[in-house]
Amino acid sequence: MSTIVRVIVSMFICHVLLFGPTVYAGVVNRFEIEKYGDVIWEVPSNKKQIAITFDDGPDPVYTSQILDVLKEEGVHATFFLIGKRVEKYPEIVKRELKEGHEIGNHTYNHPSFHAISRHKVVVETRKTEHLLDPGHHTDYIKLFRPPGGTVTENSLKVLKKEGYKIILWSWHQDPRDWTNPGTDRIARHILTNIKNGDIILLHDSGGNRSQTVAALKIILPKLKQMGYEIVTVDELLKMHPRYNEFHETEMKKEEVPSFIE
Ligand SMILES: [Zn+2]
Repeated sequence: MSTIVRVIVSMFICHVLLFGPTVYAGVVNRFEIEKYGDVIWEVPSNKKQIAITFDDGPDPVYTSQILDVLKEEGVHATFFLIGKRVEKYPEIVKRELKEGHEIGNHTYNHPSFHAISRHKVVVETRKTEHLLDPGHHTDYIKLFRPPGGTVTENSLKVLKKEGYKIILWSWHQDPRDWTNPGTDRIARHILTNIKNGDIILLHDSGGNRSQTVAALKIILPKLKQMGYEIVTVDELLKMHPRYNEFHETEMKKEEVPSFIE
């Protein structure tokens, strides 16, 4: 390798190390984007309805324990599934569907979405979609939750094109159950913050989730006692003003923010 080539290559490496990749799409701002209805954090309404979501499954130990609790309480939840785990534990997904729960796409490999390329977003979502809906049913509800809840302008553009609704969670309803803060703390966090239209974030995988299972046994009867109806995300979305446009891929021209075209 000639000296000049070596100098150019090391300058390039230094530039990448110092400044990161040159093309980097920013994370969207909730206050700019929420009104368009493509990314949902919660669905405020007068109805005492809330949704409980579980991420990162299916899990061979904890998902079935959670399903048992939900069954006992007669409650339906929404599970955001990782494709490579769906391949490993398809029976658990079958049980989720058979028992009336809702499933959503949580990518195939759970990559970071901070600087993800559009191509990788397509690959990650389609691979999992193929597992969740091999027959390509027209009534398949396309809910997507990005890993870490990260939505960039780039990924939003792609996910919209793929026909997905991006479901995040209420900021006051993340009890960080994956850090195992204690059963009571998880339950207290959810119950003291609860509001109509909340989307609660829990995890059925990624480690020991016995605190999540135990907290659920406290939360579900208490929420019912408080008059809340626990529904799936799709049912909650029916309260959303933009619900009727759910499956539309195009937004009205004048309402399109500059980066969604
Ligand atoms: Zn996740």
